[in-house]
Amino acid sequence: MEITTLGELLHWSYANLAMAHSAITAKAEKYGRTQFMIRSRLYKGLNNQTMSIGPLADDERLKMVLPQACCYCGSRDYLSVDHLIPTKRGGANTGDNLVWACRSCNSSKCARDALVWLVEKNQFPPILLLRRYLKLAIEMSREGNLMDTPFAEAPELPFSLSAIPQAFPQPSQLRLWVVEIAQPGVPGDLAHKAAQVA
Ligand SMILES: [Zn+2]
Repeated sequence: MEITTLGELLHWSYANLAMAHSAITAKAEKYGRTQFMIRSRLYKGLNNQTMSIGPLADDERLKMVLPQACCYCGSRDYLSVDHLIPTKRGGANTGDNLVWACRSCNSSKCARDALVWLVEKNQFPPILLLRRYLKLAIEMSREGNLMDTPFAEAPELPFSLSAIPQAFPQPSQLRLWVVEIAQPGVPGDLAHKAAQVA
């Protein structure tokens, strides 16, 4: 399998995300046949447009239901809103691009791209945070008619292409969100909704 276009690169990462999401939800230690099938089916389906990514509204709903906490460290103190994709690089100043961040993470991250900052800290982003980021990146690439552009020739983009993961760690090393979300007390359908990546 060869990845050449920007669309393929983003779809591959998104398909890996679905694979990871499924494994975490199933509490699997390692990826198995089911997860590899989810990945290959979704990757193919996204590329030939028989499947689509889930709406950002799902992520917004989740944001409203989850307790307010820093999306990078889980702290509940001194929260402010942070742009996942920096506005100075062209990230939107809309709810889709806004997450909670504590004062400490905010001042450490500054105006950097969230993924770039996490890569610098050697941290793999929580799956649902990455899902929001990838949806935004795919949306912007579609709007700019860039999905068929060879990624090597892509113009400067608001999001960070180099920080978008193409290989994912084993599920035992990943987490869905910075704090546990599938706990007793959380409505049962939340975990279900969170599990619907595609
Ligand atoms: Zn924080």
